[in-house]
Amino acid sequence: MVYLLLISSVVIGVSLGYFFGHQQKLAKRILVLSTGFLLSLTVLEIFPEVFKGDSHHNIGIWVLGGVLLQLILESLTKGFEHGHFHHHGDEKNIFPIALIAGMCIHAFIEGVPLSNTTGEITPYLQGIFVHNIPISFVMGAFLLGHHFNKKIGFAVILLFALASPLGMLLGNYFNPDWQIYILALVSGIFLHISSVIIFESNKNHKLDIEKIIFVLIGIGIAYLGHLAHHH
Ligand SMILES: [Zn+2]
Ligand SMILES: [Zn+2]
Repeated sequence: MVYLLLISSVVIGVSLGYFFGHQQKLAKRILVLSTGFLLSLTVLEIFPEVFKGDSHHNIGIWVLGGVLLQLILESLTKGFEHGHFHHHGDEKNIFPIALIAGMCIHAFIEGVPLSNTTGEITPYLQGIFVHNIPISFVMGAFLLGHHFNKKIGFAVILLFALASPLGMLLGNYFNPDWQIYILALVSGIFLHISSVIIFESNKNHKLDIEKIIFVLIGIGIAYLGHLAHHH
């Protein structure tokens, strides 16, 4: 069930991107909405989980580590994994190997906290699902578009789609005590990704009402979900 959800999030995103990728407005709305959701989920669900109890004194360092790790991965992927690609004209400078490596490390790590779970649809799983959609959207729009070698594009998408399930599978063999540290690392990654999108300044720092509205909708959905369950 969880594997199916992970794969389907990529399929949905890639299809949306392939068919509607040229619609900049739609792309931006999906991105901003999902980012508002992801940021809220990180703060409302994942942080309390990470910081609960006092047995993990240095856990905050792992959150910061996630932020830094994402910063490094971004240099490989040019920002694909936060669901936008803002280096227009630079397309030919993408090295597929670097892109594959960056995306797969990113998605693999995100899969690990899903291991040793009962298969229920946790807030974390919802977060991964929603977060995968804008990423796959960019992949569908760009990697399967006419600027890019389609074979390589499909290979990148396939490997990306399999990386989180693989992380989940192999995570079962990791020491369960590590789980919380990986979760902290991922929360840092999420924090970085959502901050980049939400706080990225638009031209001349103009107030972007539409962006704020879509971020608020994302926050609202996450908050409703938060109210609907008990820890
Ligand atoms: Zn970016
Ligand atoms: Zn991700």
